[in-house]
Amino acid sequence: MKPDLLLVGNVSPRMRGRLDAEFTVHPLPDEPARANFLAETGPKITACCTTIGLTTEVMDALPNLKIVSSYGVGYDSIDAAHAADRGIIVTHTPNVLNDEVANTAILLWFATARKLVAYDRYVREGRWEREGAAPLTASPQNRTVGIVGLGRIGLAIAERLGVFGATVVYHSRSKKDAPYAFYPDLVEMARACDVLICITPGGPGTRHIINAEVIDALGPEGILVNVARGSVVDEAALIKALQEGRLGGAGLDVFEEEPKVPSAFFGMDNVTLQPHVGSATHATRQAMGDLTCDNLSQYLKDGTALTPVPECAHLVKR
Ligand code: NDP
Repeated sequence: MKPDLLLVGNVSPRMRGRLDAEFTVHPLPDEPARANFLAETGPKITACCTTIGLTTEVMDALPNLKIVSSYGVGYDSIDAAHAADRGIIVTHTPNVLNDEVANTAILLWFATARKLVAYDRYVREGRWEREGAAPLTASPQNRTVGIVGLGRIGLAIAERLGVFGATVVYHSRSKKDAPYAFYPDLVEMARACDVLICITPGGPGTRHIINAEVIDALGPEGILVNVARGSVVDEAALIKALQEGRLGGAGLDVFEEEPKVPSAFFGMDNVTLQPHVGSATHATRQAMGDLTCDNLSQYLKDGTALTPVPECAHLVKR
């Protein structure tokens, strides 16, 4: 008899093949079928695989749940502390996406600074021929770049910045063992920077840490890049600053109400928008899927997991 697994969200055929080989897989139905399904099948479920988080309501309808394997490194859509209290191991997929997300951050900065998307439109619309050379842009060479959240991905971003002659500085709650200047005060760092790149976790601890004061400190020539979570930036304050010319530009992969994006951004040539695709390449998504399944396989083998989130690390005795 294979153990019963709750599947939340969509997975690739490769992931589904691995899950089916080891578990009896039960996709979580939408309402109105969900309540009956949880009442009938919930007590059998011992494992969960999710690509879109797990509500506490669903988690608590699974009395025998032992592991939640989450696809992605950010896990702000799972209450991991609550899971840990219940003895449930939550795992995520750190490191395998560092390079991809770091590349996305650089891409967004460069595209915004050099107006890649706006100038692509300039060519396609025939404006080059009609109006002549496009206006000059700000150089991304030799800039001061502040990383907000110098963790795994933040460090991968910092490594790339040397090639562009950047002075790298960072802000986080604690000083790291890293060769970059640390700013305990985010406003002070923003004042010293040409570019701010946000790559912290989401959730209540980082909600709106990029606020009007930080944006004003970055200033009319400054560029904000957000590859963290939409909740990290006060989007209304950002839009107002861009409309009033108090910020130079923004490169955004994530938004407060995804997939809804404020239409105020659509007419702005100094803004580059991406649909939360920081890690979204075939190779990286496959590596994330493999690690998500590896965590579940490891749990079946010996009750441990490869990459538990910090809140659950004590539950994994390896
Ligand atoms: P890490 O845990 O390695 O790094 C997070 C960093 O953020 C740490 O340096 C931490 O330092 C800092 N941090 C945490 N809270 C705060 C705070 N309140 N203020 C300032 N700094 C803070 O995580 P990863 O680098 O692996 O991933 C970071 C995040 O990137 C993910 O949680 C996710 O939200 C996002 N992400 C986005 C993707 C996308 O597609 N756009 C893809 C992958 C990840 P300290 O504890 O000292 O504060």
